[in-house]
Amino acid sequence: MMGAPVKLLIHGASGRMGQALIRLAQANPLLKVVAMTGRSSFPSLAELPEFDVAIDFSSPEGFDAVLALCLQRKKPLVSGTTGLSAAQFQSLKQAGEQIPALWASNYSLGVAVLNRLVAQAGQWLKHWQLDILESHHIHKKDAPSGTALSLGETARAATGNDPVYHSLRCGDVVGEHTVQFTGQGERIELVHRATNRDIFAQGALFAAEKIHGKLNGHYQFADLL
Ligand code: NAD
Repeated sequence: MMGAPVKLLIHGASGRMGQALIRLAQANPLLKVVAMTGRSSFPSLAELPEFDVAIDFSSPEGFDAVLALCLQRKKPLVSGTTGLSAAQFQSLKQAGEQIPALWASNYSLGVAVLNRLVAQAGQWLKHWQLDILESHHIHKKDAPSGTALSLGETARAATGNDPVYHSLRCGDVVGEHTVQFTGQGERIELVHRATNRDIFAQGALFAAEKIHGKLNGHYQFADLL
């Protein structure tokens, strides 16, 4: 017998990701969108219905309010908002003592695998030049992308070298990341291309379903796979 659907609050509901989340959640009988919030329409806390998990794909300016709401309601937060400050990451980590809290720079399965490949390649290529190239649509505000920074952190941990980042903002590119190791006379490129932002929305919805009912803690996406 199927249990009651997980009740979702979508923060950043009018955005590109918010719209994908709402459309895909509506097609999933295990999920139910009960509240949608955003910049122009953040109702007072008292007006918001009861929810099980909040999903945040807004902006660094929108993040603090949804985190505060989750802490007040003692509900899990799944956030994919990029460009957060060090202080905001610290608040999220601390929130893990009171609620299940998850942030990921990228909710696609392919990028989770790319991260592992980069960690592996980096162990053997410590003396090669390390570059991270990323392309996104012209509306993306932060650069380098959150995914590029996460891949860079993985590569830095494996090689001990700081990567050089290269960002391109062009057309309607959903998201492309290349981790490039360059040696003398040879080069390795590990590439991920997202062609549809539904992959991020599906990953975040999967994470929301999984985090519902989990113990308090600061989770990584890989913890829920
Ligand atoms: P968008 O600009 O299309 O949408 C942003 C939404 O957030 C809008 O609904 C806007 O009204 C709302 N918002 C902005 N500032 C706010 C505020 N101060 N208070 C309340 N709401 C606010 O952007 P998008 O393409 O949907 O991306 C949203 C975020 O998700 C960005 O940070 C982007 O980099 C990130 N993103 C993450 C992943 C991932 O897998 N982690 C994937 C794609 C995008």
